[in-house]
Amino acid sequence: MPSAPDAEAQDAVTVLLVDDQPVIAMMVRKMLAVDPAIAMHVCSEADAAVAQACAVRPTVILQDLVMPGANGLELVTAYREHPDTRDIPIIVLSSNDEPEMKKSAFAMGANDYLVKLPEPIELIARIRYHSRAYTTLVERDNAYRALRLSEQQLLASNLELQRLTNSDGLTGLPNRRSFNDCMAREWDRSRTEGTPLSLLMIDVDYFKSYNDNFGHLAGDDALRCVAEAIRDAHADPTCLAARFGGEEFAVVLPGLEAARAAEVAEQIRLSVEATTLPHPAPEARQVTVSIGVATRVATSRASPDLLIAAADARLYQAKCEGRNRIVAA
Ligand code: GH3
Ligand code: MG
Ligand code: MG
Repeated sequence: MPSAPDAEAQDAVTVLLVDDQPVIAMMVRKMLAVDPAIAMHVCSEADAAVAQACAVRPTVILQDLVMPGANGLELVTAYREHPDTRDIPIIVLSSNDEPEMKKSAFAMGANDYLVKLPEPIELIARIRYHSRAYTTLVERDNAYRALRLSEQQLLASNLELQRLTNSDGLTGLPNRRSFNDCMAREWDRSRTEGTPLSLLMIDVDYFKSYNDNFGHLAGDDALRCVAEAIRDAHADPTCLAARFGGEEFAVVLPGLEAARAAEVAEQIRLSVEATTLPHPAPEARQVTVSIGVATRVATSRASPDLLIAAADARLYQAKCEGRNRIVAA
């Protein structure tokens, strides 16, 4: 039964008696000895009380009011101010029966007040009552903390999962799925707001021969470098640069007119060129990209595929015209 250990834990009582008189300690110990679930610790010096309470972690403090060099009420305040003892129930145990003194003790944060020495049955009943309330509070707080922690972990895992679902494993850029989502969203926006939407289709030049000469692992490194160069060249957070597939990348440029989109394309081309990655093919000499640029204001009759096809056609034209170039309107 899972509830049994909790019930046991709630029944376990740890008392810290803070009292300078050994005879009181002896008598309280004797009273509590009848209950085997109660463990008792004694602190006879007021100066050491808070530290001992932190070390012992009592579920109830029995606090004397008059101790040499200390006012028990100040100690009550001290427990309440310390984060480790703030919520521990305090039963003041005093020979003072004055209502004013009781009032002060409760005002300082005591939970109960017993005049020395109470009947054992009353002392144990009060100790058990307060101890149980405290352990319930601690368990509730622990459960709440554990719940918060698991909620945070779940949130972090979901975010990570979302990141992995939407990003390309090789380059870390948004993947084709992100690109599709972005295109659909921006196409919709372009249609409703009547703003232009530009698209760059980017393809690495002579990449097959790069792989054939340097191997696929070196090819992967080169793709990472190209991705980095593309990312560096377009700092605008409204743009989305994605890996379209293979050695092809795409950049979605919402709100950009054709001329401005062509400028971004040229920045990207230069940024890849600036990596100066050597290429084995004599016609290439270094890794470069060709870029097709297309711009449309979306209509409900057409789909984003129209823009992709237009950018693709210009990319093809850039390849035919010699590569390492952009073709825009
Ligand atoms: P072009 O200049 O006309 O684009 O020529 P190309 O050689 O780049 O074009 P082609 O389509 O013939 O070759 C593309 C190559 O890209 C072939 C394929 O093996 C390689 N490739 C695609 N994805 C990856 C990848 O993830 N890693 C590596 N290393 N190579 C890849
Ligand atoms: Mg290609
Ligand atoms: Mg290529």
